[in-house]
Amino acid sequence: MGRVLGGPVLLKMEALQPSGSFKLRGVGRLCQEAAAGGARSLVASSGGNAGLAAAYAGRKLGLPTTVVVPKTTPEWMRERLRGEGATVIEHGAAWDDAHGFASVKAEAEGGAYIHPFDHPALWAGNATMIHEMQAQGPKPGAVVCAVGGGGLLCGVVQGLHETGWGDVPVLAVETEGAASYKAALDAGGPVALAAITSLATSLGARKVSQEAFGWSRRHAVTPHVVSDARAVAACLRFAEDHRVLVEPGCGAALSAVYDGAPALKGLGSVAVIVCGGAAVTPAKLEEWRTHAA
Ligand SMILES: *Cc1c(COP(=O)(O)O)cnc(C)c1O
Repeated sequence: MGRVLGGPVLLKMEALQPSGSFKLRGVGRLCQEAAAGGARSLVASSGGNAGLAAAYAGRKLGLPTTVVVPKTTPEWMRERLRGEGATVIEHGAAWDDAHGFASVKAEAEGGAYIHPFDHPALWAGNATMIHEMQAQGPKPGAVVCAVGGGGLLCGVVQGLHETGWGDVPVLAVETEGAASYKAALDAGGPVALAAITSLATSLGARKVSQEAFGWSRRHAVTPHVVSDARAVAACLRFAEDHRVLVEPGCGAALSAVYDGAPALKGLGSVAVIVCGGAAVTPAKLEEWRTHAA
């Protein structure tokens, strides 16, 4: 990867977290705070990596955990959530429906609602990756991260400010058809996309959080949008280079380096948040490669 940019590339390997993605940092922190605050249960609303992180955290904290998933969540993912001890309930056609139902359910049972990307505890948890990077290595010339709802971006930028690295620019990468952060910058505020058409489902928040948009006014964040095909190609190349499978949402960030995004040239070293994702297998990568070609 370093050869393309002509400088060192640092990889923060969040793909190796127990739940398969960086989500455990923020979601785990939110679950911990809920437990400390006396919550009797946890209710999450994501059929993806946030739900998996909540299920894992709930099991570790000994709290009954329910994950409300939309109809689109595949059976194998529900099985994985149950494997972590969570109760899986289906509600609605899309995440927004599951989100509404889960919030009400949490309230009704004296539990804590675990939002996938919009809560200060999530940002603080995600920021720990930057604190670790500061303890582990040199200051990077830029940080590359993927953006879905913006919880990762908020954590990264918050972490940069907390560590005295507030002058390090961030490349915020999305795929075409899931570019809600770019849309927010263009519109001057968060706006809802009509539909998500990217296969990078982990980036498929129709609208980014206000906090994520707000940081764009206080930090050098450059949006960068790539095609699904380039994101999947980066997943395959990363598997060959580093023997690690990641979802296309993570591949999007990797593709900015592999394809030599102009914004990353001439900065010295670049740090990439390898955000990971559990919803990937060799067969799925092959299927996505064919579909996105
Ligand atoms: C959640 C997730 C993202 C996007 O994170 P946000 O906090 O929603 O912006 C990117 N990649 C993977 C693998 C994820 O699980």
